[in-house]
Amino acid sequence: MSSRAIHARATPAGRIAYVDGRYLPHGAASVHIEDRGLQFADSIYEVCAVLEGQMMDEEGHLDRLARSLGAIEMHMPLARGALKIVMREMIRRNRLKDGLLYLQVTRGAHRRDHPFPKSYRSTLIMTARSVNMAAVEKRRAEGIAVVTLPDIRWGRCDIKVTGLLPNIMAKSQARKLGAFEAWLVDRDRFITEGTSTNAWIVTGEGVLVTRKLSQNILAGVTRLGVLAALAREGFNAIEERAFSVEEAYAAREAFMTSASGGVIPVVSIDGRTIGNGSPGASTQRVHALYSEFARAAAGASRRTAASS
Ligand code: PLP
Repeated sequence: MSSRAIHARATPAGRIAYVDGRYLPHGAASVHIEDRGLQFADSIYEVCAVLEGQMMDEEGHLDRLARSLGAIEMHMPLARGALKIVMREMIRRNRLKDGLLYLQVTRGAHRRDHPFPKSYRSTLIMTARSVNMAAVEKRRAEGIAVVTLPDIRWGRCDIKVTGLLPNIMAKSQARKLGAFEAWLVDRDRFITEGTSTNAWIVTGEGVLVTRKLSQNILAGVTRLGVLAALAREGFNAIEERAFSVEEAYAAREAFMTSASGGVIPVVSIDGRTIGNGSPGASTQRVHALYSEFARAAAGASRRTAASS
């Protein structure tokens, strides 16, 4: 049996992918072998959470997609409204309740040559998959362990490119060490972010600290949503600044944020227990405020789409 047949067989029945205007069975969807996304990671991606069939933080993801594409001199593959229609259609066709929508835009297929081609037709790919929410909620209830590892990534971590080798190497190393995530550390021993999450601590004084946006970290859509949810509550004990590994060890609480998990407590860093070793009250409050905020925003945007 060919590996393609094995792959097709392993695909859950009925899963649909989108490639350049076509909805196809997941196992049959493909791109050209000279696609620049494949050859150079000349491509941008987004991962959006879908909860109870609703897209979370849709505008934030589309804003960041446009920003990332602009940074590598690419245009949006479709107008924003059309993109939203395809995203909703993917949720519908995949009967997605709780899961993730993955979207990737590459600079398309071209004869292999390093410079950006003068003209190109981008490739737009979308896939959808459901998520085991029980596993996510278990992590939220129990907290997870992280290890710190050197940040060996490039100088434009603010662009959401698919060139993720340093991230996946660090995540794999973390898993080998029995941790769920790696927090990456710069040359001055300050934590930048996780391999696929933003990093936060709560100090002894109850101040929430997360790294300031720069070219060294990704502007997490969930990070932004958490800040907006806290601002709406009038909570202002927040510092957007770098924090060191030692400050993280001494923190009262720690947590990480991402579209795929929302707010997840961190209860151990490099084997050192954080706080009393279980998810703290501030983290739980941040989770509650963020999920209420994100669900309300998703509901409002669905109502706007339905009435337009
Ligand atoms: N930082 C990195 C490096 C990421 O890859 C991600 C998500 O993939 C995040 C942070 C969290 O971003 P978001 O909240 O938009 O998922």
